[in-house]
Amino acid sequence: MITNYFRPETLEAALALLAQPDTRPLGGGTWLNQPQQEDFAVVDLQALGLNQIHKAGNNLEIDACVTLQQLIESADCPAALTQAIKLESALNIRNAATVAGALVTCDGRSPFATAMLALDVHLTVEHGPQVKDGQSSTVHGLVEYLTVPPKGLITKLTIPLNTRLAFESVARSPMDRPIVCAAVAQWSAGRTRLALGGYGQSPLLAMDGVEPGGIDAAINSAQAAAKNAFHEAGDEWASAEYRADVAATLAKRCLEANRQEG
Ligand SMILES: Cc1cc2nc3c(=O)[nH]c(=O)nc-3n(C[C@H](O)[C@H](O)[C@H](O)COP(=O)(O)OP(=O)(O)OC[C@H]3O[C@@H](n4cnc5c(N)ncnc54)[C@H](O)[C@@H]3O)c2cc1C
Repeated sequence: MITNYFRPETLEAALALLAQPDTRPLGGGTWLNQPQQEDFAVVDLQALGLNQIHKAGNNLEIDACVTLQQLIESADCPAALTQAIKLESALNIRNAATVAGALVTCDGRSPFATAMLALDVHLTVEHGPQVKDGQSSTVHGLVEYLTVPPKGLITKLTIPLNTRLAFESVARSPMDRPIVCAAVAQWSAGRTRLALGGYGQSPLLAMDGVEPGGIDAAINSAQAAAKNAFHEAGDEWASAEYRADVAATLAKRCLEANRQEG
């Protein structure tokens, strides 16, 4: 239950408040406002101005409090990322939920987190008074962030713009959360990154590397990696055998879509 509410107007003030025990950042509040067992204070981030999206060289920098809908409506949002975000949640939630909140609370079925993992999103975390290893801010990949969440406030997500991104999914109904989804980001230098979602506690990075043998070899590698990553991915929604087969097919479709786009 929320026991205290703060709405600071500077990052420094927010970080000082967040250094207090049992105090959490409040993004869109769609998750934090739901009944919780513990008591905690919240620091509302909405007055900090962390709601801009801008290009920086080959990257897109997305402030932590940008909403999912705001990202979709940005001209710079990759089409495949828009596709994934539309499956993440319905319009009303997308209008409130922030990009940072959505990644912090994601599970393996999150299409948004799967696409962001393929894009090798980097999260900038400010530490304020709780300096980490002598640094006031650190940058983390998504897997690293989700594995050992660092204390502090996410202020920015950075994704590359010089990639082709494709996203494919299978679900019970067209707008349901996927049972299996795949996202493939490809860089012009040949790097191919395959992320799989639809299962488990967080999306899985199935492949990240340069395939020297061209597109057909890349498809073969991605299919093998997808099967391998999901070979034990069975639960009440689908068997591991089904997920492994579907993941391989979706990975292939993503690479073919990227080939057509290129
Ligand atoms: C009706 C409804 C349906 C939903 N359906 C789904 C669903 O199908 N699947 C699903 O996964 N979720 C669902 N959710 C949950 C929710 O929509 C998402 O988890 C949402 O993306 C959270 O974003 P938020 O900005 O609202 O986060 P908040 O609720 O504000 O915060 C969520 C968590 O992130 C932390 N946080 C927020 N911002 C930062 C930051 N800048 N730095 C560090 N930590 C931060 C908070 O402290 C908190 O721990 C649903 C919620 C509602 C109300």
